[in-house]
Amino acid sequence: MSLVLKPPQTERSIAVPEINFMVKGSAADPYEVTFLKSDDNLLVFCTCPAGENRRHCKHRVAIMNGSSQNVVSGNSDDIATVQTWLTGTDVETALREFNSAAGGGDAKTLTAAKSKLARAMND
Ligand SMILES: [Zn+2]
Repeated sequence: MSLVLKPPQTERSIAVPEINFMVKGSAADPYEVTFLKSDDNLLVFCTCPAGENRRHCKHRVAIMNGSSQNVVSGNSDDIATVQTWLTGTDVETALREFNSAAGGGDAKTLTAAKSKLARAMND
């Protein structure tokens, strides 16, 4: 009788749920957008220059708004999952305010909404 050891990835699978997308931006190589869900908090990162400076970027916003247009990683179906993760988070609230400001607010309101959304995605 032999003892079957579980592979190490079994432990990884119970870690924080994570979804990654590769998004085509202005650079030659696509950027990586990462969503991390823990309890009722959502973290969203992007490897573009703005994202690396913890600032707002359009790559994350596009996915959160349901757009698969620039997603090149072939997992557009995961966008629906991301949208369920958004529900009830501070990111969702900030995204709504941003979308509303982007759709006809003044510049000052839009800048404030961008900062708020960037903070929400980073904490
Ligand atoms: Zn980005």
